[in-house]
Amino acid sequence: MSQDKYEVVIGLEIHAQLLTRTKLFCGCSTQYGEAPNSQTCPVCLGLPGALPVLNEEAVRMAIKLALAVGARINHRSIFARKNYFYPDLPKGYQITQYHVPIAEHGRLEIELENGQKKTIGIERINLEEDAGKSLHEGFPDSEDKTYLDFNRSGVPLLEIVGQPEITSPEEAVQFMQLFRTILQYLEICDGNMEEGSLRCDANLSLRPKGSSEFGIKTEIKNLNSFRFLQKALAYEAQRQRERLEKGLPILQETRLWDERKEQTFPMRTKEEAHDYRYFPEPDLPPLVIDEKMIRNIQETLPELPNDKKNRFIQEYGLPTYDARLLTSSRGLADYYEAVARACGLPKQASNWVMREVLQTLKEKNIDIKDYPLEPKYLGELISLVEKNVISIRVAKEEVYPAMLASNKHPQTIIEERGLTQISDENQLFNLAQEIVAANPKPLQQYLQGKTQVVGFFIGQMMKATQGKANPQVVRKVVTEVLEKAKKQTES
Ligand SMILES: [Zn+2]
Repeated sequence: MSQDKYEVVIGLEIHAQLLTRTKLFCGCSTQYGEAPNSQTCPVCLGLPGALPVLNEEAVRMAIKLALAVGARINHRSIFARKNYFYPDLPKGYQITQYHVPIAEHGRLEIELENGQKKTIGIERINLEEDAGKSLHEGFPDSEDKTYLDFNRSGVPLLEIVGQPEITSPEEAVQFMQLFRTILQYLEICDGNMEEGSLRCDANLSLRPKGSSEFGIKTEIKNLNSFRFLQKALAYEAQRQRERLEKGLPILQETRLWDERKEQTFPMRTKEEAHDYRYFPEPDLPPLVIDEKMIRNIQETLPELPNDKKNRFIQEYGLPTYDARLLTSSRGLADYYEAVARACGLPKQASNWVMREVLQTLKEKNIDIKDYPLEPKYLGELISLVEKNVISIRVAKEEVYPAMLASNKHPQTIIEERGLTQISDENQLFNLAQEIVAANPKPLQQYLQGKTQVVGFFIGQMMKATQGKANPQVVRKVVTEVLEKAKKQTES
């Protein structure tokens, strides 16, 4: 792509469903997966005369995000009606924000593959309501009927409009991943893209390299996984490039990603903002937020992913790779930290969490919050390896699985199963003598200069001790016994 004469310009628009218990303008539950239309009332069904009342919890969550991305919070923001017709929008308009959003001018710093950092601007954050859901499949008569479920109608959303400052599909994925992690750290959105609680639209255009003007963009709607985001943007960039090279025009339009065909296809020509006839919502007063509320929320903010990552590098001396992986979820980071503190061996703790713990989560298909082992037990296991009480092999293959199954203290398991590592030099030296004497052929090879057979003797030692011998001591005594035999034949 480096010889390419075009530059890719990408902007993301993210919709995050907030984890409030109730909807944005009524008291209906937001619980996902309930029976269709069981969580509705005159307000969220848009019946005439029903009046909206703003959910304060949603406002607090919006402020949290605004603070986390360094956005300016407007002390007075305005709700607006965005008018359009769609069967899942019975009011005929969506309540959103337009002229004055709740927050503006934020930013997010992502780290590129080469370790370079890049800041992507966030233009605005709007507080708005979600629409209902049209169900086009899953019913016996879905062929000729569409069903409507209004449980989602009125669920609070944050609409985050990113600046068009992303220059590759990979950067877009990085941005989206970090954004999701922040929402999860703040505990304001579960980030579940499959269930649609986090959704992403992307617009993309090309322009000649070095140009400061934007080309004509297309928008790709509903990219509900990181993989689709990456693939759809890569496809769209290539499609536009080919058209431009042939001298064909780019149409400003909304497109959808077809996962089966692995291509985007046109959905409709893009509306302009004026098509929506935005006007201030007459049923809601301006949203007023005072400094005190902002300060109170500021005090409750958790340490954010980038700060945590940098602290892990500083405080625990972890490589960037480890720090980034461990802070990719708040639960994982907290777990790691508890293990590291329990054993005082931060790098070993990181190795265990990144390999064994993540492997276990994957195998059991569970989240870190459901991981059964107490961090202090895992910390203890790591200490026991460090103190040579057990070998790393025994720790991984015997003690760790037994701990997972029983949640017993590692020391108990080691005692019950007699797994203590043998580090006694005299004992192992005697054993090495026996084993060398019992294997004259490999010994002969050693004496003829084939030093690789040391590995064979070490293997025999481990076998004889059922893997409990300390490998360093074994190597030492085996070499000693063999060298002694060599000297005897020479003299
Ligand atoms: Zn309702």
